[in-house]
This record gives sequence, structure tokens and C-alpha cells, in this order.
Amino acid sequence: VSGCSGPAGERPALVAIVGSGCAGTLVAANLLRRAHGALRIVLVERSGRFGPGVAYATEDPQHLLNVPAERMSAFCDEPSHFAEWAAERIRGLAPASYLPRGVYGEYLRSVLADSRARARPQRRTLELVSGEAAGLKRTPNELELRLADGRRIVCDRVVLATGPPEGAAIEQLPSDPRVIADPWAAAALGSSVASGLTLVIGTGLSGVDATLSITAGRGRVLALSRGGRLPYAHLPGLHTPTPPPPIPSGSLRLDELERIVREHVTAAQRRGHDWRAAFDGLRPITPELWAALSPQERRRFLRERLRSWEIRRHRMAPAVGARLRALLDSGALEHSAGSIVAARASSGGVEVDVAPSRPGPIRTIACERVVVCTGAGKDVRQSSNPILRALLADGGASADELALGVRCSADGALLDSDGHADGRLFTLGALRRGELWESTAVEEIRAQAERLAIAIERSLSGSAPSPAERASSNGKALIGVTTRPPVGGRNRIEVPR
Ligand SMILES: Cc1cc2nc3c(=O)[nH]c(=O)nc-3n(C[C@H](O)[C@H](O)[C@H](O)COP(=O)(O)OP(=O)(O)OC[C@H]3O[C@@H](n4cnc5c(N)ncnc54)[C@H](O)[C@@H]3O)c2cc1C
Repeated sequence: VSGCSGPAGERPALVAIVGSGCAGTLVAANLLRRAHGALRIVLVERSGRFGPGVAYATEDPQHLLNVPAERMSAFCDEPSHFAEWAAERIRGLAPASYLPRGVYGEYLRSVLADSRARARPQRRTLELVSGEAAGLKRTPNELELRLADGRRIVCDRVVLATGPPEGAAIEQLPSDPRVIADPWAAAALGSSVASGLTLVIGTGLSGVDATLSITAGRGRVLALSRGGRLPYAHLPGLHTPTPPPPIPSGSLRLDELERIVREHVTAAQRRGHDWRAAFDGLRPITPELWAALSPQERRRFLRERLRSWEIRRHRMAPAVGARLRALLDSGALEHSAGSIVAARASSGGVEVDVAPSRPGPIRTIACERVVVCTGAGKDVRQSSNPILRALLADGGASADELALGVRCSADGALLDSDGHADGRLFTLGALRRGELWESTAVEEIRAQAERLAIAIERSLSGSAPSPAERASSNGKALIGVTTRPPVGGRNRIEVPR
């Protein structure tokens, strides 16, 4: 790749990245760290926070990473980058420590600042724009990213790093200040600690975090979900994942896939490994296993097996597991299986009617407040994110078969509604989970961010991928991506008067 300037070499190409959570930040950092000539990078972020995104903005020190420090590096080629950064700041840190997520947010900020400082001699620049991306005008010669406040950014490439679509509202719940729809909104759980019962809806990792914050005061929690099951905890220490089984050829039914997983876990246990290490060993081949299921079988997995997968795959830090056990023992936490059938605001709080998951009478729970922790949305077409809505509406992006996210090439180039990649729009992370399934955690995001930076530069210079780059593309050939160099004109960021 020989630099990313415009055709006459008179201006650097401009890459706009929408979203500066972990994913957008790491794409920017990779672009800044690559030494291939001038490039303008513009990070557009609506929260005003550049780096931490939703997961790592929490200031509650009880909210821990669910991955040990040694495995949270931002960069594939520097596996201890985070652990070393943290060791300089935290005395006596062990590589197997599960650090507060707020510390990781600081790390992402510092990765961005450091990459920016290192990029100067390469004439690579980073501009931070606070605002919400609301639309994208595409012509053959130009991309124009439109912000909700009217500003426009004329650019050569756009990366959607918006995180997952937001979860659907629970329509039975009343609109009331005591119903907290977004536990991650600033100060949602902070100072207003309830002393009575809080109903936490969702028993996944976000529900666990909300429980820790609420019970740190005098509050009690009833955690409710359809299955009612809490996640498993990690074993203390660093454990090497068991090598995965061979990838089966051809398509799989869900019961065949379950048999492969069961046999893999049993064989690992016979060799003295814990089931958790066996489960972690499946991670590198999860996209291939997922791809072997037909869309019908994937839907069946989502309907019938999702929770059972999630409580094993997304585990709590050991200290969090111990704390939950203590809360259960003391009665400060209860968990229950059921679904909400009706709810209303009352003078003392909120009354919620819950139908149990097994046959039984509906019961009414009177609580001080309700916190919704049901996690990411499961239908990208229902997203209220304006840039996603605009792209899905004009065919610039297309939902994957399960509508968990969008369709992409192996490198993350968006496929339009005809299945073609324009070659100028890219995405990564949660929006790819429909096609990859395992695509939301740092381990996958950092690899995708690195590949995306290479693919963007390649597309800007009009060069074909090298054999090594092709090989690093997840082992898959690129599908339908046209590599287009930027077309003339000047990049502009316009602010309306
Ligand atoms: C509570 C929680 C804990 C987690 N813990 C871990 C962990 O310990 N280890 C791990 O590996 N993974 C963890 N994860 C997984 C996590 O999702 C990823 O690690 C990562 O944070 C996802 O980053 P992202 O940038 O894709 O999404 P997000 O963090 O959601 O960031 C997206 C950003 O885009 C912005 N945005 C969205 N739309 C627009 C728009 N239209 N215009 C402008 N800006 C926009 C948002 O404001 C946001 O800042 C956790 C996830 C959650 C939710």
C-alpha cells in the first residue's frame, strides 16, 4: 500500500468512523499506527466519550471485566499490551486479575491518545467529532456522512462501529421514572440507591452488574428472566483453552452440533480439563460451526438454546461469582424464572404481574423500581439508530438472515440489498454477529479492527490483497468487494451557520 492520498496526491483520504466504543477506537488506533502515508481519520461519537463505549464507561469499581487482564490487549500482535499498561498503574497486578471495567475504559482512551501521538510523523491525523451520525449520501464519487445536527462530513470510507442494536422496550412496563430502561445511562443506578426491592429484568452479566450496584447500598434484588439462570463464574487463575475439535465438513443440524460440543467437553474432561476450558476452546471455530447451521437451525438455537449457551460462554469474574453467592445466601438476592404479563405504577413504586415459566399462578411483585437489563436487541431492523435505519432503508446495508446484524464480506465490507459490496462502507463487532456469532468481545473486535484497517488502506490505494492478507481474512476469500481508490474533490467537514 503506497499511501492513501487522493488521485492527484493533493489531499489525504478521509475515513469517518461512526461510534467510538471499543470497536471504533481500535479501528482508529490501527489506522493511526500503520505507517503508510497521510490519512485523515474522523471519529464521530454521540455520547461525547471517546474510547470506553457502553461496556467500559462504568465508574462502579464492582463492575469487573469478565476476561483476565492478560487476554484484554487492544492489539493481536502485542498480547500483553493491556496487562503491561495496567501493571504500570496498579501495584502487584497479576496477569489473571479481573480489573474494573472503568480501568479498561481509561486504557482505550490512552490507546487512542498514544496512537494519535505516534501517527504525527506519518501525517495521519485524528479528529474527534461529538455528534450523532444520522444518514449517509452515496454517489459514485463521494460519501457524505450527515450528522443529526446538520453537519456533514465528506469522506472516502465509512466504518459503522455503532455496537449492537438496542434492546426492544418491554411494552408491558409503564413509562415511569422508577422504570430504568437503560442501566448504562449515566448515573442510572448511581446515587439513587433504593432501600427496598428492585426488580432486575435479565439475569445475564448486565443484570449481575446492576445487582452489585443496587445491593452495595441497602437494596434487595429480585432478578427475573425467562430461564431464571445466573451465569457461571470463571475459575480463578489463567487456564489455557482446550484445543478445538476438527471443523466438520458440510452442514450441521443443531442436534449434531450439540453432540460435537458434548463429545469435545467430555473428551477434555477425561484429559483432566475443566469444562470451561473446553468451552473456551470452541471459540476460534465458532464462526465455522455457526456457518454450518442453516438459518432455520440458527433460529432454533436462538429460541431453544441461547440461554444455556450464554450462561456458560459469558461467565462472571471469580470475585463476582463469590459476591453473588454471598448475596443469595443472605437473601439480598433472589432469582426467578418467569415473564412479565402486566405492570403498573403505584404510589409505592411499581407493581409487576409475572407468569412463572412452569405452570403456576401469576404473582404480583411490588417493588420500588424496575431495572431492565435484557441486553442487546435481536432485530437490527427494529433499531432506532438513525444511521442504521437510513442505510437499511436505502439498501446501502442489508440485514443478515436472522436480522441480528448486517451482511458483510469476510473483511467487514457492507453488502447492499443486492448482495454487492460498494467497497467504501465497512463494519465490525456486534453488527456481524448474525454471520459470525462470536463477534462482540475484545478478542474478536481487535482482530476485526486490524483486518479492517488493512482492507480500508487497500481499498483506498486500489491494490489487491496480498496472499498473506487474504490468508489473514479469517481463512475466507473476499466476496464481492470492489476496491475503489478515492475519487477527486476535497474532503470537507461542514458546520451549518
Ligand atoms: C456490560 C458489558 C460488559 C462487557 N464486558 C466485556 C469484557 O469484560 N470483555 C470483553 O472482551 N468484552 C466485554 N463486553 C463485550 C463488549 O461489547 C465489547 O468488548 C465492546 O465494548 C463493544 O464495543 P463496540 O464499540 O462494538 O460497542 P459499544 O460499546 O456499544 O460502542 C458503540 C459506540 O457507538 C456510539 N454510537 C452508536 N450509534 C451512533 C451514531 N449514530 N452516531 C454516533 N455515535 C454512535 C455509541 O454512543 C457508543 O459509544 C461487555 C459488554 C457489555 C455490554
